[in-house]
Amino acid sequence: MAKCDACCSIVMDRRGERGHDALVETGSEKFSPIGKAAVTKASFICSTCGTKWTYENDKNNSFAGWHEVEN
Ligand SMILES: [Zn+2]
Repeated sequence: MAKCDACCSIVMDRRGERGHDALVETGSEKFSPIGKAAVTKASFICSTCGTKWTYENDKNNSFAGWHEVEN
């Protein structure tokens, strides 16, 4: 299915960007790389178009943030 307008407007690969209101969180995991700040990775699905996303909050990686999950 094609991505909805809200999903198309998500800024990928940049930490601190917002998702949109139709995203539903489906789970999250937290892991702690040795010697680095803990990373939280949350999974979402868009209730409008079904696109799956992850959001990584990784202070060590400025390219973390929103990523579309390949099906
Ligand atoms: Zn969508």
